[in-house]
Amino acid sequence: MQHHVPQQEAAPYRAFTRRDIDRIAALAALPKEVRDGIRASAWVLPFRTNAYVVEQLIDWSRIPEDPIFQLTFPQPEMLARHDFERMLALVQSEASPRELQAAARDIQLRLNPHPAGQRELNVPRLPDGSALSGVQHKYAQTALFFPSRGQTCHAYCTYCFRWAQFVGIDDLKFAAREIEGLLRYVQSQPELCNVLFTGGDPMVMRSAVLGAYVEPLLSPELSQVREIRIGTKAPAYWPQRFVQDPDADDLLRLFERVVASGRHLAVMAHYSHPRELSTPIAEEAIRRIRSTGAVVRTQAPVVRRVNDDAAAWAELWRKQVQLGAVPYYMFVERDTGPRQYFELPLVRAHAIFNEALGQVSGLGRTVRGPSMSATPGKVLIDGVARVHGERVFVLKFLQARDPDWVGRPFFARYDPDATWFDDLRPAFGEREFFFEAQLRSLGHGPRRQLLLADAAPPAE
Ligand SMILES: *Cc1c(COP(=O)(O)O)cnc(C)c1O
Ligand code: SF4
Repeated sequence: MQHHVPQQEAAPYRAFTRRDIDRIAALAALPKEVRDGIRASAWVLPFRTNAYVVEQLIDWSRIPEDPIFQLTFPQPEMLARHDFERMLALVQSEASPRELQAAARDIQLRLNPHPAGQRELNVPRLPDGSALSGVQHKYAQTALFFPSRGQTCHAYCTYCFRWAQFVGIDDLKFAAREIEGLLRYVQSQPELCNVLFTGGDPMVMRSAVLGAYVEPLLSPELSQVREIRIGTKAPAYWPQRFVQDPDADDLLRLFERVVASGRHLAVMAHYSHPRELSTPIAEEAIRRIRSTGAVVRTQAPVVRRVNDDAAAWAELWRKQVQLGAVPYYMFVERDTGPRQYFELPLVRAHAIFNEALGQVSGLGRTVRGPSMSATPGKVLIDGVARVHGERVFVLKFLQARDPDWVGRPFFARYDPDATWFDDLRPAFGEREFFFEAQLRSLGHGPRRQLLLADAAPPAE
């Protein structure tokens, strides 16, 4: 067993973006048309990767099918054909960055139903009525917190559209102001016991900056906060963050302080494929996080071409359990981004989940899914059944606008083509699902408005 990662291997983080495509050695070996294709797609879709992903996770003998290549490199087929051809023509005619940018923007706005404003729409209010940006509060117990300094990632997933919010980076004082708003909000919400740091990826922040956000939550006056979660893909895309970065040890000390304060600390790690756990340093990252008393819980969406494969999920969950991580959620990818490219029928997502679940011991069956984060709540596809001769989806809320809805089974007509919650219709000839009338009525009154606020998918 290789446990210890020698210090001399330490290499600083090196990002590759669209401008660096010709500097990626493995890509330079490919025909120019292929590189132009990636470049053209990368004007429209998020592209950022790093030397670790390129050199240690991607199997270059298997591109373009390689799952990690699909996960991090924009592909021509992710765009509509005419959109791709328009971008490719501009790239090949060496159009000005301004022209390319304008064409890309035009396509982006059509690709993404919520290009901007999703976060703005979901802003909770402080008791004095003032708006609180950077926080979403959908389920009573848990608030999502988006530190402004954590709005980027060590690499971008091609299936993610959060890059719309990957914007400017500010200074430490800003962190202090943001956290002050969060603290006031938490104190106005007695049921709130769990704060989830999300992004982007909060682990792109230096340990001192992350500490400036986290430590104020540890004060004894805030004993209502019992749980702190950090959603991150760093253990997959940049495990060095926990092992070799200059402030990796400071990070572990911060985690230890959270645990010592009596809180549960959960690192919600996004792993899409077992390849991301195949390197010694990826294992070491989990070992180091766990050594602080933090729990590593894992989640990812199921998407075509990356992980639409029961064997991959079974291997992923087995490996996580072996390393002491706890499989938590399998998500269905929400309807943003290059959806035609990645989406798969709900029946298929459920079949993959079930087949993988059958291959792991009970310790791996802590995972729940496939789950859709939809307007009324997190909806689990529990199975396909036949009831009085009608084929139905058995559904259940894992989280809901109204906590009374949680756990109650409900049924949708079987539809082999449905890929998202909105495609589903009630079974047994009913006109609407049991919660719909109430969901409409929740729309009244200011506090209810807040509960209705839709949230970004917690990829992290
Ligand atoms: C998933 C989610 C949470 C956390 O839900 P848990 O079931 O506690 O993991 C919180 N807020 C939003 C908006 C979510 O989508
Ligand atoms: S899924 Fe997470 S890690 Fe991937 S690009 Fe989106 S926010 Fe970043």
